[in-house]
Amino acid sequence: MKQDVVIIGAGVVGLTTAAAMQRAGRQVLLIDRDEPGVGTSSGNAGHFATEQVFPLADPALLPKVPGMLLDPLGPFRIRLSYLWRAVPWFVRFLANMLPAARARNTRALRALNEASMPAWQRLVTELNLADHLVMKGSLLVFENASVQEVQEKVKQYTREGVACRYLDGDEVREMEPALSLTVRHGIWFTETGHTPDPYALSVGIWQQLASLGVAYQQCDVSRVSREGRVVLADGQELEAEQVIVCAGAFSRPLAEQAGHKVPLDTERGYHLMLPAHSGLSRPVASADRSFIITPMTQGTRLAGTVEFAGLKAPMDPRRADILFTHGKALLPRLEREGAVRWMGYRPSLPDSLPVVGKGGERLWFNFGHQHLGLTQAAASAEWLSGAIVDGEEERVAAYSPSRF
Ligand SMILES: Cc1cc2nc3c(=O)[nH]c(=O)nc-3n(C[C@H](O)[C@H](O)[C@H](O)COP(=O)(O)OP(=O)(O)OC[C@H]3O[C@@H](n4cnc5c(N)ncnc54)[C@H](O)[C@@H]3O)c2cc1C
Repeated sequence: MKQDVVIIGAGVVGLTTAAAMQRAGRQVLLIDRDEPGVGTSSGNAGHFATEQVFPLADPALLPKVPGMLLDPLGPFRIRLSYLWRAVPWFVRFLANMLPAARARNTRALRALNEASMPAWQRLVTELNLADHLVMKGSLLVFENASVQEVQEKVKQYTREGVACRYLDGDEVREMEPALSLTVRHGIWFTETGHTPDPYALSVGIWQQLASLGVAYQQCDVSRVSREGRVVLADGQELEAEQVIVCAGAFSRPLAEQAGHKVPLDTERGYHLMLPAHSGLSRPVASADRSFIITPMTQGTRLAGTVEFAGLKAPMDPRRADILFTHGKALLPRLEREGAVRWMGYRPSLPDSLPVVGKGGERLWFNFGHQHLGLTQAAASAEWLSGAIVDGEEERVAAYSPSRF
């Protein structure tokens, strides 16, 4: 029997895409080799980081490159064994540092991020999941920068329409008394929020979708075609009116089968989950240490770091452990007991934009949301559904797979 819509991947992006297509009156079958939401979407920092409108390809990164190669515990790391395979991605990344490319990518990131919170509000209201969104903003704190440097950053964010306020160290601690005296400045992003359990959010979406008739099949997908054919690992073949690839960091081979050479790689990231609560009430990111602390239902999550090592190399537990050293510096009372390490695969393109759009006559893509998959999931799903159902392709033009 021909399916209506088949979505490959049930991470937060596949789930929100299923919700948008179901809302548009389509009959959806979700396929994942795992259970819904257990992939990278389960272990992120839970931060709706709409303030992150600046692409990662920033010329200011260049002096840090030697450290990236040499320091196994630095915030950015390329494993030497992966260096040659990462070269093509980094060549494109460098090209995206050029002013015109950076301005174009900033515009596209900003547009998607601005649509993100309203899209999430609509989704959680509709699915009765509003408790999963906590809107207290987030803090970016500074230990070493001068007041002028931080105020210059506030100006940069404000120019891009990001709602934020400068706070001195005492004002930061008034909001979050657990933070150390070493915090000298902060930027409060007033319109952002967090979810206290990203996995529970995905599971909640899935349970609601199941009750609305969305179907699920647990299986590995081996092949897709531009004409809407899907071949499963057990040999079964499906045909659909529309196939949507939402397979996160694993989307590249599926896109290639349909003739799209997308330079997708993974920026592996780590978290350390501590059962103890930190006393924080909102996410706190550190500008000096490049990591984030989020208060969660099950305790405190320390998350961050970027590692280029591909999809197969085992995790480096030291990269999760180093997060505790940073966490302790900002939260002197933090306890490590019972800590659990985790590693996930951010799906990243060199221009920091996701791939959202048409991949063939009956094939569509929604993957590659890098550091912002949770943030952008609801908006990119709405936009893709608009393109598929109502032909509104203009809105997703900047994220098209044909840009490569
Ligand atoms: C440490 C860390 C912290 C982060 N913090 C944040 C944050 O605070 N805010 C934010 O917005 N983002 C954050 N991110 C990024 C965010 O988690 C990702 O962008 C997002 O989870 C990607 O979602 P996804 O649905 O595309 O991918 P995934 O969650 O990886 O889902 C993809 C799914 O596809 C399935 N799949 C893949 N290939 C196949 C196949 N061939 N057949 C069948 N199934 C398949 C997988 O099993 C998986 O379930 C963070 C990431 C990391 C690593």
